[in-house]
Amino acid sequence: MSNLEQMRAELQELNLQLLDLMNQRAALSKAIGEVKRKQGTNKFDPEFERHMLNQIAEHNHGPFEDSTVQHLFKQIFKACLDLQQDSSKKLLLVSRKKKAEDTVVQIGDVKVGVAGHPLMIAGPCSVESLEQVREVAKALKEQGIGVLRGGAFKPRTSPYDFQGLGVEGLEILRQVGDEFGLKVISEIVNPSDIEMATKYVDVIQIGARNMQNFELLKAAGRVNTPVLLKRGLSATIEEFIYAAEYILSNGNTNVMLCERGIRTYEKATRNTLDISAVPILKQETHLPVFVDVTHSTGRRDLLLPTARAAVAIGADGVMVEVHPDPETALSDAKQQLSIPQFNEFMSELRATKLSQI
Ligand code: PEP
Ligand code: MN
Repeated sequence: MSNLEQMRAELQELNLQLLDLMNQRAALSKAIGEVKRKQGTNKFDPEFERHMLNQIAEHNHGPFEDSTVQHLFKQIFKACLDLQQDSSKKLLLVSRKKKAEDTVVQIGDVKVGVAGHPLMIAGPCSVESLEQVREVAKALKEQGIGVLRGGAFKPRTSPYDFQGLGVEGLEILRQVGDEFGLKVISEIVNPSDIEMATKYVDVIQIGARNMQNFELLKAAGRVNTPVLLKRGLSATIEEFIYAAEYILSNGNTNVMLCERGIRTYEKATRNTLDISAVPILKQETHLPVFVDVTHSTGRRDLLLPTARAAVAIGADGVMVEVHPDPETALSDAKQQLSIPQFNEFMSELRATKLSQI
């Protein structure tokens, strides 16, 4: 055997000894974790970890630097600590690994998340008057659509823009919903309004600007009303998933996700619709996923092609804004559909025969 071969053989032998020692350490650490679990004490003990790191530095005679060995040992400590955690605890409640089957959210008698049966949610950007909402509701009813949207608390970029009718808007929505037999959805922006909102709406919407309003997420988690959570303006998919986890971990499992476009450098559209977020969210979570074609594109001419793309890629629903007279709308005048345009949009979308929307 050459000298190099000899040394490599020794190296492998040392690897195996290290492996054996690391696993012995892991087994001991697991046993310690079990004792701590019974005692109800905290698994991570920073004082003891500091003590171990000091001891390692004291006994280190190189050639590794103290900081290098301490770094390596910290990795081992961390891996051992992870082993102490119950592995099922590490899985998020929203994750597909935790629950393999699709969550079907029940909005009264309307089911969301049944494969091949995407749901359309339509209605004005803002609730402006009883008459306005009634006109849209009538159009929805004629199209056989069961869920009406309308903003009552509007999160506007400028404080001088129309802020919504507030509770009066929710009252109008409920009244019209009952009159036409439609379920209603509206955005809530204040955690202290969640409880009140459950008296008016069938679905609570949490808007893009509030995706990481953790107190709002927790409050929405403490009720049973279904929640439609929209992706934040600049949120990663991971952040979006964690935001949904806030709601589920507080008890409410009736959560739907909504991709509504993200901020990029592109100016041709209001936001950039991240269409691949739909299959990613469906792989990673068991929750229904919507695509809001209005706020993602900000362009009337793109509503139909993006709605088709959403259905084709497997979205569980589409959201679109409709107004009796978009030109005079108090918000999002540029991209809402008029009622004839909405009827055209629906028949074109249905003609695609991708599914029964
Ligand atoms: C809305 O749906 O009314 C809305 C304000 O959308 P987003 O939060 O996605 O901007
Ligand atoms: Mn809008």
